[in-house]
Amino acid sequence: MPTTYQLYIHLRRPCRLQAGRLPAARLPAGWYVYTGSARRNLAARVERHLRRDKTLRWHVDWLLTRREARVVHVVLSEAPECQANARVGGEVPVPGFGASDCRAACGSHLRYLGPERPRVVPEAALRRRRPGLRALRAALEGG
Ligand SMILES: [Zn+2]
Repeated sequence: MPTTYQLYIHLRRPCRLQAGRLPAARLPAGWYVYTGSARRNLAARVERHLRRDKTLRWHVDWLLTRREARVVHVVLSEAPECQANARVGGEVPVPGFGASDCRAACGSHLRYLGPERPRVVPEAALRRRRPGLRALRAALEGG
């Protein structure tokens, strides 16, 4: 059973983000990956991330409730959260983002990958009108 999820997020415009108690940061447009985990109810957790209407709780909520941001693709994995995060590479756009519980010195569970679509994101995923839930279903079916 997978316990780790990775949200591939596209930000269509640069924006200034101030998440929770973190200092404000300027995020460039482009592709981001957010890595999180849930030991139980993984699907419900990911679905929550895909909803725009919610109480802001996790750092990523401040990003995903922005109109400029959308989750295009979801990858589930059995790898430990921090290992999956490390494999993504990329840059740390906001130090400490999503890493309050991190003991592996990831620096951030949000990574910036740059302006180009990452290879792991299917081109077709970009054309879907409401990619979020479909992305989740595809991930749950192993697609
Ligand atoms: Zn970590």
